Amino acid sequence: MTRRLNQPLGGNEMPRFAGPATMMRLPSAASAAGLDAAFIGVPLDIGTSNRAGARFGPRQIRAESALLRPYNMATGAAPFDTLQVADLGDVAINPYSMAKSLALVEAFYDEVLAAGCTPLTLGGDHTIALPILRAVARRHGPVALVHVDAHADVNDSMAGEAIAHGTPFRRAVEEGLLACDKVWQIGLRGTGYAADDFDWPRRQGFTLVPAHEVWWRSLAPLMDEVRRCIGGEHPVYLSFDIDGLDPAFAGGTGTPEVGGLSVAQGLEIVRGCRGLNLVGADLVEVAPPYDASGNTALLGANLLYEMLCVLPGVACR
Ligand code: MN
Ligand code: MN
Repeated sequence: MTRRLNQPLGGNEMPRFAGPATMMRLPSAASAAGLDAAFIGVPLDIGTSNRAGARFGPRQIRAESALLRPYNMATGAAPFDTLQVADLGDVAINPYSMAKSLALVEAFYDEVLAAGCTPLTLGGDHTIALPILRAVARRHGPVALVHVDAHADVNDSMAGEAIAHGTPFRRAVEEGLLACDKVWQIGLRGTGYAADDFDWPRRQGFTLVPAHEVWWRSLAPLMDEVRRCIGGEHPVYLSFDIDGLDPAFAGGTGTPEVGGLSVAQGLEIVRGCRGLNLVGADLVEVAPPYDASGNTALLGANLLYEMLCVLPGVACR
């Protein structure tokens, strides 16, 4: 029996500014059963330390994603030729309780992963990476990590709180969720509280790539190195904080830092994940109240599409 694969609704069938407000105008689904991959919104921003607003990220990313077409003209990827993909909607987080929200996200992702479906997450602030990684590690064991961000997000606490958007990867290390010798943090920069702020992740075995060390350079060679380090078998999670890119391109975010990666470098990172055993990915920290043009959300939507394009099983023409 041949499977009928979901296709994004085309602009010639329904104007792009009309029709369903799902990611890429894909069908929405109530369950992950039968899906190879799914877009999921996690509209949580109670972990932010500065400008809030990422709770509106999933909705705005979906709105801007209406412009996306199915084929990747640069890489030849044709994700909807081989994968069954749908939009699973949003996790019904509790905006008054971080603890309850984390449990809700974990339970949602446990179910998605149990169905053999790869989650592609529309954030939400970066706190959401922790409950997602808990679920992912429960299914796949400690994962390799490609983490794009201006910030290492390895604080021990923020204002006395162990769970916040600047702490998820510290907690992930403590909980044994990561294969620390296969963790790459790319785009780090900005001011810190202490000169050795980036030493803690290095001591865990992470490889750090500060933005200024790769200014003006193609990141394709770096991604060759990442693939050599991680290999094609080990499960990998990709966590992409939009503030890894320069605020000139992605200013619609809560904690912008100047001197960031370019859009082309961001695309090279995601496209460079082809050949890795990606088991999940997220795009976090898009804050629509600071994104008057919609450009940051548009970029986020495109990066999520590029993540779909590099999942195992996607054919390139
Ligand atoms: Mn972050
Ligand atoms: Mn950040």
